Amino acid sequence: MSVTENQAHGEDREASRRSLEGLALGDAFGERWFPLFRDREQAFADIRARRAPQEPEWHWTDDTAMALAIHQVLERFGTIDQERLAACFALTFDADPGRGYGSGMHDLLPLLLETPEEWRVQAPLLFDGGSLGNGAAMRVAPLGAWFAADLAEAARQAELSARVTHAHPEGVAGAVAVAIASALSVRGELTVRAVADQTPQSTVRDGLLRAAELPAETEPWKAADILGSGQRIRADDTVPFAVWTAARHPDDLEGALWSTAEGFGDVDTTCAITGGIVAAHTGTGGVPASWLARREALPGR
Ligand SMILES: [Mg+2]
Repeated sequence: MSVTENQAHGEDREASRRSLEGLALGDAFGERWFPLFRDREQAFADIRARRAPQEPEWHWTDDTAMALAIHQVLERFGTIDQERLAACFALTFDADPGRGYGSGMHDLLPLLLETPEEWRVQAPLLFDGGSLGNGAAMRVAPLGAWFAADLAEAARQAELSARVTHAHPEGVAGAVAVAIASALSVRGELTVRAVADQTPQSTVRDGLLRAAELPAETEPWKAADILGSGQRIRADDTVPFAVWTAARHPDDLEGALWSTAEGFGDVDTTCAITGGIVAAHTGTGGVPASWLARREALPGR
């Protein structure tokens, strides 16, 4: 794609980079609340008291690894070339498979290393009809920010990015919803209702419509109870809650991440989604410097 065509799509490289930084921060922050690092009671008390994890290094996980691959393809080609993206996912996985990838990716990505074009055959075979997991949603916020000027294009590119690994319509809908949320965030127009309006018919969309009806004063743990917070690792029990907390704190990345952490569940992924959406607008400058110092650096900067 030529530079002119990129500009016609109104690419927003700065917003995309902000989103990527916020996604990685959310991922690394969220990962700290898993029982591997502190028991549930301690995690609950720390989150309620807004006591940040004190470990000197917060490592990011598969959410960020895959978001980096998407961002790299956009930086190089200005569009989602699915073969290139499949190759990029496979190479990223091969370089560091211990980032907490789900079982579907452990099956799929090694197959794509030599023959990336095989995604067309292999992705729909996962889980008997394609993955409806939250993996396509967790990595896509920087893409939504990139195409913020054109919501239809953001949705189209999100679908292209999802299908490489998540062929099930629910997996795709989760990615479209998060990309739209990120694009709306860049534009200062983020509401849960607006995200639902641009999301294809799906249980993800049903969840967003439920989220849009929650009273503003609803506590995050209660919203997580109603909407799900990724315990089933499905797009439809992850995306509505993460979009809801983002829309609750559109100008406050730190507040958004604390609220999301209160929901527990698949907390690295919910925080990665929320962080990517909110930071597309705010950047990471408003969070405590100690958080940024602890978060594992991203390659390339
Ligand atoms: Mg993860």
